[in-house]
Amino acid sequence: MDNGATTQKPQTVLDTLVRIYSQQNANIHRGVHFLSEQATEAYESARRTVCDYLNALLSQEIIFTSGVTAAINLVAFSYGERYIKQGDEIIVSQMEHHSNIVPWQMMCNRKGAVLKVIPISDSGELLMEEYQKLLSPKTRLVAVAHVSNTLGTVNPVKDIIRLAHEAGAHVLLDGAQSVQHIAIDVQDLGCDFFAFSGHKLYGPTGIGILYGRKELLDELPPWQGGGDMVDCVRFERSTYNELPFKFEAGTANYIDAVGLESAIRYVHQLGLDNIAAREADLTQYALAALQEIGGIRIYGMAKDRIGTFSFLLNGIHPYDTGMILDKMGIAVRTGTHCTQPIMQRFGIEGTVRASLCFYNTCEEIDKLCEGLQKVKKLFA
Ligand code: PLP
Repeated sequence: MDNGATTQKPQTVLDTLVRIYSQQNANIHRGVHFLSEQATEAYESARRTVCDYLNALLSQEIIFTSGVTAAINLVAFSYGERYIKQGDEIIVSQMEHHSNIVPWQMMCNRKGAVLKVIPISDSGELLMEEYQKLLSPKTRLVAVAHVSNTLGTVNPVKDIIRLAHEAGAHVLLDGAQSVQHIAIDVQDLGCDFFAFSGHKLYGPTGIGILYGRKELLDELPPWQGGGDMVDCVRFERSTYNELPFKFEAGTANYIDAVGLESAIRYVHQLGLDNIAAREADLTQYALAALQEIGGIRIYGMAKDRIGTFSFLLNGIHPYDTGMILDKMGIAVRTGTHCTQPIMQRFGIEGTVRASLCFYNTCEEIDKLCEGLQKVKKLFA
């Protein structure tokens, strides 16, 4: 029940990785030989598959990164260099993962810009009226989680994007916790950037995606320099490659990109609608079962939510709960979940987090609840 941290990998993804390493391994974009051409085609096919998965307009809008953290840092650096000046404002929310706070803070420090924060309610929902008050002609970019990794809240991102655009600001969505649960259509959402990590979508670690609208990406300077991202290199001055290669310096993680493609095919095979329906049932079941436990407080009770539950048992430290559950073979996460500002908001040190996905079962949720009853007895 720690799928928010990373998901398990289906056999088909493992088989793909072994097949590529054993039969098709060659560096991409570099050789005219057969293997290199094959590997390049596999990598570019993975890009097209991600493009379709997000319903992006162009595969040039899909940039491979090492994960969502790297994707956000890329935008924070490049967008900051191009667009941000002293006194400009960036808006994030109080429920962001540290990955969607610290890169913006660093950018604000570099550029003399100001970071503004959308507060959240007791139920763990964004206070949209406060958000509207924060928007101003100084707002350049709004960066928010599509889904909170701690509270399970699904944010009203279409409204967030509409309001930001009306104020003349761009929007980055952190899709780390949405892309595996909710069908994403970046054109319909209208976001300017969307980022996610492959390892939370049943894919390998070390691969992630930054989607950006082509007109915007064209305007941004490269983030890192090196091979593949250049066109002409002279000591006086170098020119840069076209999209998406301008943002992919050095040997790309071409193996895990194809592993990610395999994970997306797996999701397609199951059907994201089927996954969502199954997870909605598990979420309802878990919510009802957890609420039956006396003395539990669940942090995050949004109406629109996924099956991620952060909670505390009355007076019991989350690490104690987590360690006892572990002895029973139940894997949950404990601590701040890289969202210290949420803990500060609720005046707590941390929580226990159970994050479900489609392969969990109602029996497992029952076991979790039995485990929590045992923890309570032990500490009574
Ligand atoms: N954003 C959210 C909402 C997350 O849940 C996570 C990871 O848990 C991240 C960002 C960072 O992901 P990664 O460590 O894969 O870059």
